[in-house]
Amino acid sequence: REEQIQQARRMEALGALAGGIAHDFNNLLMAVQGHASLMLLSSDLDRKKAKSLRCIEQCVRSGAELTSQLLGYAKGGKYQVRPHNLNTIIENTAAMFGRARKEIRIHLDLSPELWASEVDRAQIEQVLLNIYVNAWHAMDPGGDLFIRSCNCTVDEVQARGMEVAPGKFAKISITDTGVGMDEDTRKRIFEPFFTTREMGRGTGLGMASAYGIVKNHGGFIHVYSEKGRGATFSVFLAASQGCIREAAPENQAPALHRG
Ligand code: ADP
Repeated sequence: REEQIQQARRMEALGALAGGIAHDFNNLLMAVQGHASLMLLSSDLDRKKAKSLRCIEQCVRSGAELTSQLLGYAKGGKYQVRPHNLNTIIENTAAMFGRARKEIRIHLDLSPELWASEVDRAQIEQVLLNIYVNAWHAMDPGGDLFIRSCNCTVDEVQARGMEVAPGKFAKISITDTGVGMDEDTRKRIFEPFFTTREMGRGTGLGMASAYGIVKNHGGFIHVYSEKGRGATFSVFLAASQGCIREAAPENQAPALHRG
């Protein structure tokens, strides 16, 4: 319990720091972007210079993506929440991911009675995609991804040592059959810039931003894993009574397995 509290405090401090840096850094990037765009408009540009300027614009875009992940972690982003059926968000993201990563078998087991949650759809999509992408890295060259949803009570959340407001929760759990992680990695997984991937491969921001987004929604993410035995990420989001029926997504990916 004490360890959880200390961890939460550390994350909060890191969040404030990261958010401040991301904000200032973003302003600098916008200035670079502005100048590069202006120069691209000038008529006396040879092809080589134009190519360099387009490279600068591309680098700025990658930098902006990083800062937006950091801001997501630090509560910099503006959230537009409305009641959603999380199953629809799961189905859409799973279909999108399945189309891009055909080597992974995706199994959905979604509760038809799932309670609605007030969320920012784009942000929760981002959380799920970050988790799927990590699962894909962990399962290289392929494996099974199980995505489940169900209703749960506050007791189940508190049993994991988390302090959340009383109420009902919708739970999304994502289990992969990848390499798993040791205890040290599991403890640090949500820290910004923590990565075990090769230099230049990982940013260490995917899980930090997922954690921040879910926390900003009043929920939380729990990770269970053992080295060599895959990982399960459980995302808990506050729910309201009743479920919303939404239309099934179009263009369901053929790689999706139900049940
Ligand atoms: P990155 O993917 O850039 O390294 P993340 O914040 O997304 O950054 O993840 C941090 C670290 O957590 C990863 O480097 C990896 O060690 C570990 N990790 C995340 N998801 C998984 C997973 N599904 N299985 C095993 N390890 C994982």
